[in-house]
Amino acid sequence: MAVKEARCDLTYCRMRGIMSLLTAFIKERKMGLNDFLQKLVSSPHICQHSQVGGFSNIDENRKEERREDLSSAEFGLTCPRSSLAEETQIKPSDFDYLKIIGKGSFGKVLLARHKESEKYYAVKVLQKKIILKKKEQKHIMAERSVLMKNIKHPFLVGLHYSFQTTDKLYFVLDYVNGGELFYHLQRERIFLEPRARFYAAEIASALGYLHSLHIVYRDLKPENILLDAQGHIVLTDFGLCKEGLEPNGTTTTFCGTPEYLAPEVLQKQAYDRTVDWWCLGSVLYEMLYGLPPFYSRNTAEMYNNILHKDLVLKPNMSNAGRELLEGLLQKDRTKRLGVKDDFLELKYHSFFSPINWDDLMARKVTPPFLPSVTGPTDLRHFDPEFTHLPVSASLCSTDSLHMTSSVREAAGAFPGFSYGPPAEFAFQ
Ligand code: AMP
Repeated sequence: MAVKEARCDLTYCRMRGIMSLLTAFIKERKMGLNDFLQKLVSSPHICQHSQVGGFSNIDENRKEERREDLSSAEFGLTCPRSSLAEETQIKPSDFDYLKIIGKGSFGKVLLARHKESEKYYAVKVLQKKIILKKKEQKHIMAERSVLMKNIKHPFLVGLHYSFQTTDKLYFVLDYVNGGELFYHLQRERIFLEPRARFYAAEIASALGYLHSLHIVYRDLKPENILLDAQGHIVLTDFGLCKEGLEPNGTTTTFCGTPEYLAPEVLQKQAYDRTVDWWCLGSVLYEMLYGLPPFYSRNTAEMYNNILHKDLVLKPNMSNAGRELLEGLLQKDRTKRLGVKDDFLELKYHSFFSPINWDDLMARKVTPPFLPSVTGPTDLRHFDPEFTHLPVSASLCSTDSLHMTSSVREAAGAFPGFSYGPPAEFAFQ
């Protein structure tokens, strides 16, 4: 009898083993298929193929989407909403929009709660019309594609979903509520060296990671550097990132924030990933001295200072800090710290010798400042200028079926924008 039971157990165990192997296999194939379909439909050319269109019309029971399909079909958009390119499980009305927490040049960032999972997210809502008017589609698609690539890094904001309606683009991001670094810096005027070192190290590791993916961040400034509830850095806003830059590749587009513009960007010369090390130097300088380097209220004078004025470092800082700033704020990018071995040159710089990089990456280094938030709805670190603004009801409504020609143009201008993880990983 005992033998029989043991044999029975063995068979059961084997069956379970086989089942879990099969489940893992199917899951893997499903993810592979999802990946393949994402790639397939992100090409507008393939999107238009009748067979792909037919295949993608499989989801018949979503009323809201059918409405949009109708309007898309009616106006002959190149890549209708129901195509798989835009087929995520998610729509604006899946969220409750609680507060406005920030504003960028194309729209707002809101604190939102996913109705079903009750989880909190930062939802960035961009107006397509404004993007098109400023001819910024490329930057926005770059942001989406960078956010998608940025699968996981402890100090980069994570993208959960992106989706679109006829007039708006939505990014569903990690919600980060420790406030902007800039906000804390303004309140405290300057940070002491150990605190500045901690933030600079977390930022440098995130930039080094982006560079390893051939992405240049380009727009490092305190407004884009947030603190999470524990006090760790989170970089947001990938709108100005330049993708596909090989280690020594250069580009010439003029963008960025005036205070932190590197000399080569100001002069419209070719620039490369070392531009990020200049920006890190500017942020580190501002953390230590309370103002950006070369700062002047007069913009023309500031530009002139960036190009021609020598860096002046007051004596109240360590030699290592001084040497690091001189290396990062080197006007000639071919002599700048990081030009040869990128992040590694910073990692092994004596200024960072107190940092244990393995612990840092594992988020094991205790942050020097705890933002002390009581929970997700504690908005004390956000500017009341935003949080007091009324939340527009139009955010979760389905778009109007009445399409003017400009709405029609906007509706089809971002094919393949939508992104969502496989269903089993959604809102876990
Ligand atoms: P952006 O358009 O990305 O520059 O965002 C504008 C502002 O919204 C930022 O400066 C932040 O204050 C806020 N913000 C952006 N992303 C997030 C996020 N993931 N969590 C919390 N606040 C954010």
